[in-house]
Amino acid sequence: MPARTGTEYLAGLADQREIWFAGERVKSVVDHPILGRAARTLAELYDMQWNPVLQSKLTYPSPTTGEPVSLAFIQPRSVEDLVRRRVMFKHWADFSGGMLGRTPDYLNAILAGCASSRLYFAGNGTEYGERISKYYELSRDRDLCATHTFIDPQINRARSQSEQADPTVPLHVIGESAEGLVVSGARMLATLAPYADELYVFPSPSRTQQSDAPRFAFAFAVPVATPGLKFICRESLDGGGSPADYPLTSRYEEMDAVAVFRDVVVPWERVFLKGDIVLCNRLFRDTPAFLHGIHQFTVKNLAKAEFVLGVASLMAEAIGRTELPAYQQMLGEIVDAVETERAFLRAAEADAITDARGFVHPNPEILSTARNYFPKIYPRLIEILQLIGSSGLMATPSERDLETPGLGEEIDRYYQSATLMGKERVQLFRLAWDLACSGFAGRQVLYERFFAGDPFLLMASRFLNYDRSTAVARVKALLARSREQSE
Ligand SMILES: Cc1cc2nc3c(=O)[nH]c(=O)nc-3n(C[C@H](O)[C@H](O)[C@H](O)COP(=O)(O)OP(=O)(O)OC[C@H]3O[C@@H](n4cnc5c(N)ncnc54)[C@H](O)[C@@H]3O)c2cc1C
Repeated sequence: MPARTGTEYLAGLADQREIWFAGERVKSVVDHPILGRAARTLAELYDMQWNPVLQSKLTYPSPTTGEPVSLAFIQPRSVEDLVRRRVMFKHWADFSGGMLGRTPDYLNAILAGCASSRLYFAGNGTEYGERISKYYELSRDRDLCATHTFIDPQINRARSQSEQADPTVPLHVIGESAEGLVVSGARMLATLAPYADELYVFPSPSRTQQSDAPRFAFAFAVPVATPGLKFICRESLDGGGSPADYPLTSRYEEMDAVAVFRDVVVPWERVFLKGDIVLCNRLFRDTPAFLHGIHQFTVKNLAKAEFVLGVASLMAEAIGRTELPAYQQMLGEIVDAVETERAFLRAAEADAITDARGFVHPNPEILSTARNYFPKIYPRLIEILQLIGSSGLMATPSERDLETPGLGEEIDRYYQSATLMGKERVQLFRLAWDLACSGFAGRQVLYERFFAGDPFLLMASRFLNYDRSTAVARVKALLARSREQSE
């Protein structure tokens, strides 16, 4: 099967998946009045793959079937491949202004990176390496959409899994059968779970405490619709409001859910690591697989910073503040964020590394810095939107007010700005509200702070794992010269 259309993607969600939302088991995600909205948004991404103008930019021929498949699955063998894939990422990211954090290309790229590192998985046994390769090909050629869950529930973070008061809460192996590995327990958190075809259950890229006993050490994938697997969604941020009132929330509420496993059988061909604590802990450190995910979300971060710049610029123009140096400085900060993201991408591609098997990976040092940069700058970008908009973010009557005879005309007059009549101004400021102040906006900030791993550990690991020897030697040489000169 080649790259899917939106209709094919939506049809794939009609299965026996166990999604719990607002106290009920969801019968059909697509037909659900709230959850269905983001499903249809994601379907638009899949349709882009069959847009005649875009298809050559979004797909490449599958190495096994020759049919067009998403470029997110490519295993880059040149810098040109990285650039082609970046262009594909950017088309998808621009579609939502970067507001859909978890478009399927993110995990597709990580899976392709895992398959390029199949020898690492083979360290657990030859068959494990073959399984990850075959699973990658299956996902690529069926254009599957995945979510992932890397971390255990937040029970007592001062204790390892086996030291928890109830060590059966974190996901663990309870047995093996002829069919596969049997697991029970919970994992948090799976963004996009109601909309995904597959769930990857892998070790965390940012913490080593994971897998402190063999029964917690594994990497596998299961269909979202697997017997015994349920997802408990958080409350939706989308109250069903109109796209005019909630231009972002109504389209891009991608949902987060906790995954609960009860005696789930993971077929052997889907078990990629098992029982080897060191291999699990080092998976995303000793292989470049996760780098490909960072490549994807650095593109998303560029799209997001550009989107914030567009909104902030229009707001500042609307209220006649672009002449003010303080506003210019704040807008300049956003420009710097945009250009920093762009520079990260260009540098990571230009200084890509080629491995022994001829696979090309974006530069790890540059992308590690990129990964640590956005969680710090995004909250500031949102703060700037709040500072620029100030009380204007409260002058935001609803679509119904605008349509009410008499009131609508008054709003058009009394809400006017330097560049916009009232109705246009309200439209712009409602967008800014959804981006900077709504529940959706709050979750976006939390997402950017944490989704790529614990920012605290990630920052510390830059110090711990960075080769500082040249810098240290240079300083020691200067100190030695100073000593010699003073003797
Ligand atoms: C919106 C959202 C979506 C997410 N989606 C996914 C997903 O799809 N899949 C997935 O696997 N995960 C997902 N995550 C989870 C993400 O991986 C975790 O949030 C991240 O790894 C941090 O772990 P934690 O939240 O359990 O924080 P904890 O480990 O419980 O830490 C709590 C706080 O303590 C800080 N901290 C930790 N150690 C120290 C220390 N030594 N000193 C000082 N402070 C410290 C942390 O930085 C954090 O601020 C998502 C998170 C969010 C918020």
